[in-house]
Amino acid sequence: MRILVVEDEHRIAQSIKKGLELERYVVDVAYTGTEGYDMASAESYDVVILDRMLPEMDGITICKSLRQENNHVLILLLTAKSQTSDKVDGLNAGADDYLTKPFSFEELLARIRALSRRPSKMLQSVLKVADLELIAETFEVRRDHKPIQLSSKEYALLEYMMRHPNTTLTKQQLIDRVWNYESDILPNTIEVYIKNLRGKIDAPFKNKPPLIQTVRGFGYKIGDNV
Ligand code: CA
Repeated sequence: MRILVVEDEHRIAQSIKKGLELERYVVDVAYTGTEGYDMASAESYDVVILDRMLPEMDGITICKSLRQENNHVLILLLTAKSQTSDKVDGLNAGADDYLTKPFSFEELLARIRALSRRPSKMLQSVLKVADLELIAETFEVRRDHKPIQLSSKEYALLEYMMRHPNTTLTKQQLIDRVWNYESDILPNTIEVYIKNLRGKIDAPFKNKPPLIQTVRGFGYKIGDNV
């Protein structure tokens, strides 16, 4: 899952980013309202953690503008005050949930998980492709009931592919969704990650059909309807 954190307090933004990265989310940070709004409109995120009070453009305005553009990204609004009017304003502006500062990292994580479990948002927490299973809440991956150990990037790549089964994904799409904004990643690096994933989810299961397919000239897909 790819998350954008829009928060002008650098220390808070960095600690959220570090914490979320340990939980294997892919995280970008924006420190001003305009930067946050530009990134949220231009890039594709699963969740935007949006501070209400921001320089240049406040959280409520960003929220409204994104919704007006039909951007349905999940938005978790951070509010400094616990007044009811703040919450109501946020939800009216199109935020999916809000969290009052100060909050613990565990609270934030619980809200993100709760948001991404909402069935209407198409973010299932258990993904299946043939006998390959990924449990997003615990980061477990199993094939044929056997646990598979993946690095955090391999996991993020597999999760993204499994959310789009039987769909050809270009290397650029994979880069855009699995690596953050600052990463200088080349398409060749994707090949290395795909090779490693194959070594873990296909190679050990020789009597089963391989699940990761190369679509020559386009990219890759995961699925069992080859
Ligand atoms: Ca702020």
